[in-house]
Amino acid sequence: MTDKTVLIVYAHQSPKSFNCAAKDAAVKTLTDQGCKVLVSDLYAMKFRAVATADDVKGKLKNPEHFLYNEETGLACKEGRLSDDIKEEHRKVEQADLIIFQFPLYWFSVPAIMKGWIDRVMTQGFAYSLQNLYDNGMFKNKKAMLSFTTGGMESMYLPDGLNGDINVALWPLQNGVLRFCGFQVLAPQIFWSPAHTPADARVALLEAWKTRLQGLLNEKPLSFAPTELFELNFQAGFRLRADVKEEFASKPYGLTTAHHLGKPLPPNNQTKAE
Ligand SMILES: Cc1cc2nc3c(=O)[nH]c(=O)nc-3n(C[C@H](O)[C@H](O)[C@H](O)COP(=O)(O)OP(=O)(O)OC[C@H]3O[C@@H](n4cnc5c(N)ncnc54)[C@H](O)[C@@H]3O)c2cc1C
Repeated sequence: MTDKTVLIVYAHQSPKSFNCAAKDAAVKTLTDQGCKVLVSDLYAMKFRAVATADDVKGKLKNPEHFLYNEETGLACKEGRLSDDIKEEHRKVEQADLIIFQFPLYWFSVPAIMKGWIDRVMTQGFAYSLQNLYDNGMFKNKKAMLSFTTGGMESMYLPDGLNGDINVALWPLQNGVLRFCGFQVLAPQIFWSPAHTPADARVALLEAWKTRLQGLLNEKPLSFAPTELFELNFQAGFRLRADVKEEFASKPYGLTTAHHLGKPLPPNNQTKAE
């Protein structure tokens, strides 16, 4: 049993969907383990996806040139964010683990979930120039993507029609989750459930329930440690020369995107080492 809190940020329009079944399986399995489970059901909440000045209460600092991150960062500090964002902040603060459950849309999250990321991962709450990656605000929290695809698995292999899924996952897993400091767990990918026989779909959900039982103890994916970079504007935040030299003789790059012109380290964004 565990006393952890898990937030599931869920985006599907239909309670009959496979995504809903995956979300329900997570709620039940985690609750049965003693976790407190919070769900943000974005379509049911009619969550607003667009980042605008309506997210700030009171006077804007610079109404002539509205800058979303600066105005919301200040509003966050002064308790002037809109109520829906404050409510999501409270959930994120409580969460030891956040699971994003969604159907893959255009190699990414549905717009309503992107809106949740844009609006809830507020500057000063989720990141700052001093608090990024290894020093990120959420370094003591875990996060993961759990999603369904339309395309079959082979389409997302390095020689498949859609290209390597590891590349597609980088913007969300590194650009959002790792950027904010989260320890990122390996994604749960349900390949093409609409083209999977019914009994195999049931087996996919059973495998998910089994994984959920040990999820909180899983080793996270590996990313480039922040200390390997020159962290100043003059040096351009680039990899240290000694690290580049060390990698010169290695067969693979450092991560999917820090590939250093070498073959990508296999499964960097899909499996923990
Ligand atoms: C705008 C848009 C963009 C897209 N972009 C991409 C893309 O970039 N890449 C890509 O690969 N795909 C893409 N797709 C396809 C999309 O990812 C899939 O349609 C989606 O992932 C399927 O998941 P679902 O939950 O909607 O499946 P559903 O169709 O809801 O479910 C699949 C099957 O599972 C069944 N099911 C439901 N509950 C259970 C249960 N408890 N047990 C067993 N079976 C159950 C359902 O009845 C159904 O037969 C896109 C779709 C849209 C609309």
